[in-house]
Amino acid sequence: MFASLSDRLTATFKNLRGKGRLTESDVNATIRDIRLALLDADVALPVVKRFTGSVRERALGAEVSQALNPAQQVVKIVQEELVGILGGQTRTIRFAKQPPTVIMLAGLQGSGKTTFAGKLGKWLKDQGHTPLLVAADLQRPNAVTQLEVVGERAGIPVFAPERGNMGGHDAVLDSGEGTRSFGDPVSVSRLGIEQARARQYDVVIVDTAGRLAVDANLMQQAGDIRAAIAPDEVLFVLDAMIGQAAVETAQAFHEGVAFTGVVLSKLDGDARGGAALSVAELTGEPIMFASTGEKVTDFEVFHPDRMASRILD
Ligand code: GDP
Repeated sequence: MFASLSDRLTATFKNLRGKGRLTESDVNATIRDIRLALLDADVALPVVKRFTGSVRERALGAEVSQALNPAQQVVKIVQEELVGILGGQTRTIRFAKQPPTVIMLAGLQGSGKTTFAGKLGKWLKDQGHTPLLVAADLQRPNAVTQLEVVGERAGIPVFAPERGNMGGHDAVLDSGEGTRSFGDPVSVSRLGIEQARARQYDVVIVDTAGRLAVDANLMQQAGDIRAAIAPDEVLFVLDAMIGQAAVETAQAFHEGVAFTGVVLSKLDGDARGGAALSVAELTGEPIMFASTGEKVTDFEVFHPDRMASRILD
């Protein structure tokens, strides 16, 4: 991902190297190249405009004209502005003061939510947490089983509906629960959290249903779950391969479930990816994690500064 954006920007900076002072027309030519490179990579237009406006203003100002190496200074400005677009600081999970910390996952079907649930669970477990996965995706018949497979691979228990148990692990739902409804995602999410509290799991990851496209029912359901369980984090899982649709999808989910962070999935793909890079700036929510493959270990905490360096190297 971002290989062609990275090549384009590097080539642009190559043209600047070796120049002593930079004229206004050097700066303008550079900004034009950066603008085209970003647009070709699918970065959203308002983001491109803000970015290039800011780079231009700084590149024509004193910090460049008085620099010992003006070209290098421009590269530094672009790097800093890119870090800004990507959210600035690294941010990971905010844990609740009173466990369990509840993390809800939302996103389109196929975005990589279930896969990510396993990755996040394993990452938390490796840090000494005791996560529980809750299967609240009751739209697709396969979704619960799929989460159980993911849980098993990651060595993390799964609270599943219908069966009312924890997917092959030791814990079985307490007797007396039989009269409760397991059939709707809100009840399943609530029961999962109750179970976590009772059995002292300190993080609950709730996997919710997705649809192939944003629709009102999906949003309503996700919104209802959010209202019922008051999660500490709502992570929106975004397939970076979906191109320009990423922006619209992210905005719809931001309105619908007020997510608190973004997970970019499928960053191992070769799509242009710029739309996904626009999401933090457009929604004001940080990109927190990246998913980079199908294996449970293909997972990274998203560091805006490292990603910017990777793109500009
Ligand atoms: P969900 O419907 O949102 O729960 O999506 P899934 O977790 O089922 O993922 C959909 C498909 O994408 C599956 O085939 C996953 O193996 C695949 N997938 C998920 N995350 C990644 C990733 O980071 N990289 C790649 N290459 N494939 C992924």
